Amino acid sequence: MSVLSVPIAIIGAGLAGLACADRLMQAGLEVRLFDKGRGPGGRLSTRRSDRFQFDHGCQFLTARDPDFQGRMARWLDDGVAARWTVPVVRLHPGGLVEDSPGERFVGVPGMNAPIHALADGLPVQWGLRVAAVEPGRDGWRLTAEDGRDLGCYQQVVIAVPAPQAVPLLAGAPDLASRAAMAHMAHCWAVMLAFEDRIDVAWDAAFVAAAGGEGRPLSWLARNSSKPGRPPAESWVLHAAPTWSDVHSELASDAVLARLLPAFQTLTGARAAPVHAVAHRWRYALPTAPLGDGCLWKPQAGLGACGDWCLEARAEAAWVSGRRLAQAMLAPAPERPL
Ligand SMILES: Cc1cc2nc3c(=O)[nH]c(=O)nc-3n(C[C@H](O)[C@H](O)[C@H](O)COP(=O)(O)OP(=O)(O)OC[C@H]3O[C@@H](n4cnc5c(N)ncnc54)[C@H](O)[C@@H]3O)c2cc1C
Repeated sequence: MSVLSVPIAIIGAGLAGLACADRLMQAGLEVRLFDKGRGPGGRLSTRRSDRFQFDHGCQFLTARDPDFQGRMARWLDDGVAARWTVPVVRLHPGGLVEDSPGERFVGVPGMNAPIHALADGLPVQWGLRVAAVEPGRDGWRLTAEDGRDLGCYQQVVIAVPAPQAVPLLAGAPDLASRAAMAHMAHCWAVMLAFEDRIDVAWDAAFVAAAGGEGRPLSWLARNSSKPGRPPAESWVLHAAPTWSDVHSELASDAVLARLLPAFQTLTGARAAPVHAVAHRWRYALPTAPLGDGCLWKPQAGLGACGDWCLEARAEAAWVSGRRLAQAMLAPAPERPL
C-alpha cells in the first residue's frame, strides 16, 4: 500500500486541527477528522436565539503571522470575515477610559464562519467524541465514547484543549506530561439582549485590574456592533479567568446575579435585559501556554497542537496546527546504525 493512501487521524476540528489538516492535504496526504461538536466552530462559537445572536467564545481575531494573514485575506475576499472597526477601550479603576486601538477581525455572519469555510469539503465526522487512542497491531487504535472502533492509524494528531489532550496522549507519556503543564482557565460568558440601545460611547472594553469580587468582568462587547449581525442590541460579557476559576461551580442564575450589576456599573445601563443567559467555558484560554509551537513524537507518530502549545489567541491555534503539519512533513531524522 502506498504511504500516501494511509489516512492521518485528527482529533478536534477547531482552528488548530483544521489548519493542520489543510496543510497535510496540500502536501497530498489523506486525513480523517473527528469532532465531538455538532458542527464547525470549537471555541470560535456563535449562538442564535430569537432575534439575537452572540459570539459567546472567541471575540475577535488578530492576524500578525504572515501565513495567517494570507488566510485572513482569503476569508475577507470570500466574505466569511470582516474588519471590526468600532471604538474599543480599556477601563481602568477610578474611571480612566483609554483607547485600545488595534486591527481586529471577526467571522461573518458569526465567529464560526471561517471554521465553516475551512471545514467545507473535509472528511470530518461531527458529533463524535474520541475516548481513547491506544497502541494496536497496525498503529494507534481510536475508540469513540460509545465504544465504536474508529480504526487504526499510523499517525494521530490531537487538536483539543490541553486537559482533554492529556488522556488521549497516554500512549506517549512524555507528551502527556508536557500537555498537563498547560493550565487552561474557565470563563463565564454572559449573553444579554436589550430592547433599546445601551447608551455608552464605546462598543467594546477590556477591563483593567479585573478578577476580584468588585471587578469580576474582564471584557464586554456590543455583539450587535460586529459586521453582519442582526441589529437587535446584544452584548457578550466575559468574567476574568481568576473569577471564573473561583466560581466555576456556581449555578448560572447566581453568575447572572453577580455579573449583570458589574455590567451596569461599567456601562451605566439601567434597563433590564430581555434575554440573559450564562455559559461556562470549562477550558477557555491557556493561562500558562507551553510556548513549544506544537508537540510531535515522530517515532510514535503522535502529536498535539492548539493555542495552549503557543499563546492564548486563536491565531496561535492556527500557527500551532501549521507547525505540527510542517514537523510531520519533514524528512524523518536519520537513525544511527
Ligand atoms: C470565552 C473565550 C474568549 C476568547 N476570546 C478570544 C479572542 O478574543 N481572541 C482570540 O484570538 N482568541 C480568543 N479565544 C481563544 C480562541 O477561541 C482559541 O484560541 C481557539 O479557538 C483555539 O482553537 P483550537 O483549535 O486550539 O481549539 P478549539 O477551538 O477548542 O477546538 C478543539 C475542538 O476539539 C473538539 N474536541 C475536544 N475533545 C474532543 C474529543 N475527545 N473528541 C473529538 N473532538 C474533541 C472540540 O469539539 C473542538 O471543536 C477565546 C476563547 C474563549 C473560550
